[in-house]
Amino acid sequence: MQTHFIYETLPARVIFGEGKLDSLGEELERAGLKKALVLSTPHQADWAHEIATSLGTLSAGVFSQAAMHTPVTVTEDAINFLNKVGADCVVELGGGSTIGLGKAIALRTGLPQIAVPTTYAGSEMTPILGQTENGVKTTQKKPVIQPGTVIYDVNLTLTLPPALTATSGLNAMAHAVEALYAQDRNPIISLVAEEGIRAFAESLPAVIAAPNDKSARTKAQYGGWLCGICLGSAGMALHHKLCHVLGGSFDLPHSETHAIMLPHTAAYNEPAAAEAMDAVRRALGNANAGQGLWELAKSINAPLALKDLGFKETDIEKATEIALKNPYWNPRPLEAEGLRALLRRAWAGDTPQ
Ligand code: NAD
Repeated sequence: MQTHFIYETLPARVIFGEGKLDSLGEELERAGLKKALVLSTPHQADWAHEIATSLGTLSAGVFSQAAMHTPVTVTEDAINFLNKVGADCVVELGGGSTIGLGKAIALRTGLPQIAVPTTYAGSEMTPILGQTENGVKTTQKKPVIQPGTVIYDVNLTLTLPPALTATSGLNAMAHAVEALYAQDRNPIISLVAEEGIRAFAESLPAVIAAPNDKSARTKAQYGGWLCGICLGSAGMALHHKLCHVLGGSFDLPHSETHAIMLPHTAAYNEPAAAEAMDAVRRALGNANAGQGLWELAKSINAPLALKDLGFKETDIEKATEIALKNPYWNPRPLEAEGLRALLRRAWAGDTPQ
């Protein structure tokens, strides 16, 4: 049992349930907001327009150019548009990319945000923003970045393609696994993390088998919410740092990289984080955390090998060097040989050890 900790809650009004998108107008009125700019990616623009239409006079229009990694140029275009149409808040309809754009707008304007997540990435529950300018990604954490209201409606996740469902779910589980052994963990977040892992472990196979299964999709969305809380509340360690190296220096895609790395980083930390891994094992119903995560990933057809994402065997050494250059806290100290072996297994798609 953990006997020393600090617990601080992150403020957010969360509305969860099938059909709750219909309460968007009510939520705007409740907050005294009069003109919402609806944000989306180009891919989800039709949906954004439907929502804007349903809001009637509460809508200021749609900006549908949200993009991966929150480019500052897109944020500037969005703010110009927002000023032109006189919006007093933003509605983020989408995954981490669209929510990132809303956060970047809020950071610069102080305007309120209502997030309507359509993936399991969990950005809506965090005060964290990563943005890119001239190819360089920087991350910051401030209260103004976190959306004040979040509406989770399972109907918006039914179209999430199976491949993205699997990788987005494993990406979310990684937030919870790392929160369980974080240096600043606390008993409440550990309970949330275990429940988040359990929700995904129980729902992802069913969702992949039947993507329109609303009951399984609801449980996965519940897991996404809980795992998002973990990301917002606890410091991340080896797993997130390694994924940052692989994404930042080798341009590997976000959720796929997380999905491949999680079983291996969990296995690396397993001997050094007994209590955390007990919780992971309980949640997975498996005697082994790394192996259990790998089996889950395999069962939902998630990618298992970095080489399938274009990562080269010859890059293993360079990735190890970059990871070691920037030392950070991790329950098990970072050792060159251990990291090299971990990356080699992840590169090949081998089982974790
Ligand atoms: P995403 O938002 O980039 O979406 C990927 C694609 O899927 C987009 O084209 C999107 O339009 C589409 N899509 C999303 N939901 C859909 C649905 N229900 N049906 C059909 N298509 C859908 O993907 P993501 O994984 O949610 O977010 C990844 C980004 O979020 C990364 O840039 C990552 O760094 C960031 N992120 C940030 C935080 C944070 O706390 N700041 C947390 C997690 C992720």
